Amino acid sequence: MKAVQLTTSGDYFSHYLIDDHETWQKEVRIHEGLSLERFQYRDIPMPAPGPGDVLVEVRGCGLNHLDAWAAKAPPSNKRSEPVTPGADIAGVVKEVGEEVTAVKPGDRVIIHPSVSCLDCDFCLTGRDNLCQSKGGFGGSRDGGLAEYTLAPEWCVIPLPDIISLIDAASLPIVFITTWHMLVARARVQPGDTVLVNAAGSGVGIAAIQIAKLFHARVIASAGSEPKLEKARSLGADEVINYTTHSLHDEAMRLSQGRGLDIVIDSLSGDLAEQSIEALAPGGRFVNCGCTLGNWARINVARMLFKESSVLGSVMGTKNEMLQIVRLVGEGKLKAVVDRVFPLSQTREAVAYLADRKQFGKVVVVPDAHYPPVEGYSTL
Ligand SMILES: [Zn+2]
Repeated sequence: MKAVQLTTSGDYFSHYLIDDHETWQKEVRIHEGLSLERFQYRDIPMPAPGPGDVLVEVRGCGLNHLDAWAAKAPPSNKRSEPVTPGADIAGVVKEVGEEVTAVKPGDRVIIHPSVSCLDCDFCLTGRDNLCQSKGGFGGSRDGGLAEYTLAPEWCVIPLPDIISLIDAASLPIVFITTWHMLVARARVQPGDTVLVNAAGSGVGIAAIQIAKLFHARVIASAGSEPKLEKARSLGADEVINYTTHSLHDEAMRLSQGRGLDIVIDSLSGDLAEQSIEALAPGGRFVNCGCTLGNWARINVARMLFKESSVLGSVMGTKNEMLQIVRLVGEGKLKAVVDRVFPLSQTREAVAYLADRKQFGKVVVVPDAHYPPVEGYSTL
């Protein structure tokens, strides 16, 4: 079968977790360019399902910044084997192992992007996103940038007919991550004022919608006017262009000097610092990514007197994935797809994503199914 493989794949997680500020800055400069030649489109053997596995014919694979980082990160000694990237996968069941009962060939499915041990204290208390032996598609195991992929039965979720396979492929990581940030970590309440940074990102489009679902007031920030217009059409009540205005000052003005109840951030760096300074008493800042660097300064004294919280958030649980599939199926949340590429043009798709011009998700489709027959949601 045809698959994209990342040769000499980078160890982007340890790259991401570099503690030393100076080293991080240096690494960012050195690896500014994408090594797109690391993405090779080639024939590999067809995977065969074990007793508990499901073989899925991929119909859509959503790209994430993780996929671009994998091309940027320095080659890793830890993982010399080529791996097929792509964590957000939807498709049709082709074949099942003898122990599989949840799905059968022909079923339309979406795949939960992480594989947890199901036996540690985190997994056993419903916090499978914190499982320390967790792996993921496109990281520790082959992902969805291929014609077929193998998934353990636990990860395979039947898809309601109303959700197209392209839309489904755009959902998993950004929607479960954002649901986890807003609902589990920040505990969003009706009437909260929520600032959504990087409104055009996948997390941004999910955060605007989920915050509105909870009857919060949404202020969206982005670096360009077209993105802010789209954020408004998705439900944002107010917008801030952080390239032409101070994010902090505008957030204080738009909250009538009270400050923000919740900040949803995937940037870190200076914009995170400004956002934390704009928190209301009792406010919660939640971060799920460090696009602008690993560090942000916090005025601890102000945090203390305002009882504000600075929270990390990583991915989401399978239970949250089931919620997302249900809510999208009921039309209460919607996928936003920016553009679809054929699998043979994955390099172009990753470069397009890294350019940050998109609003919504970039989805890759095997060439045999391109252009897709099913529709998909755009803005
Ligand atoms: Zn576990």
